[in-house]
Amino acid sequence: MKFILPDYHIHTRRCGHAAGTPEAYVTAARAAGLSEIGFADHIPMYWLPKAERDPGLAMQEEELAEYVAEVVRLREENPDLIIRLGIEADFIPGRTEELAAALLSAPFDYVIGSVHYIDGWAFDHPAHLTGYAQRDIRTIYAGYFRLLQEAARSGLFDILAHPDLVKKFGYRPEDDLRPWYAETAAVFAACGVCVEVNTAGLRAPAGEIYPALDFLKVCREYGVPVTAGSDAHAPGQVGYAWEQALEWLRAAGYREVAVFEKRRRRAVPLE
Ligand SMILES: [Zn+2]
Ligand SMILES: [Zn+2]
Repeated sequence: MKFILPDYHIHTRRCGHAAGTPEAYVTAARAAGLSEIGFADHIPMYWLPKAERDPGLAMQEEELAEYVAEVVRLREENPDLIIRLGIEADFIPGRTEELAAALLSAPFDYVIGSVHYIDGWAFDHPAHLTGYAQRDIRTIYAGYFRLLQEAARSGLFDILAHPDLVKKFGYRPEDDLRPWYAETAAVFAACGVCVEVNTAGLRAPAGEIYPALDFLKVCREYGVPVTAGSDAHAPGQVGYAWEQALEWLRAAGYREVAVFEKRRRRAVPLE
């Protein structure tokens, strides 16, 4: 039987900017031939006062228990599929205690850490593109990779999402990024976190999987485990460009992918 990667990065309409019920994603996963998926909706915006939490960016705090119950129910109703309960959690420096407390509130199978903000600037949000003109691109990249490393060191995450998201809109410095890749991969390895191959980059102006192949190769050299995610925001995106994701992994030298249950990692061969 042909190997199909688990898709560990699936959003639902609960996050306010994705379409589709969790059921619709399960139906789509089955249709795409996947045997293992994981939901990773955005954690409530714990670092902001409640009144400032944008319902278009993440679920509200009171929805977290419903999200968990819904995924658990789907798991029971679909015994032919492996359905994991994940969460995508923003890394915000100085706010790790609040995040740690939030992560204890549910029996997550894995926690995906994300850097979506540099000093409060949502650099991956199309409404805030002017920020690229206001800053030096090298400073932006340096800030991004430092935050990603800090996120890995926080010990709060099992997986670091879309680890060169900063290229999303195609703004790239002329510098050789390999020193950043090597430094970051070394931190991931030392902290025991996974890197995520995320196909959403193919749907963005960057037009490339996250992370760049050179970055993934150096992660492999350092022995960093890897997971895969489509970052689906619509049911039709489950397993998006999944053949390319598998090729990307193999091209980087990976022979296995990590899977999680109750935050314990196991390796599955890519065949
Ligand atoms: Zn993300
Ligand atoms: Zn996501």
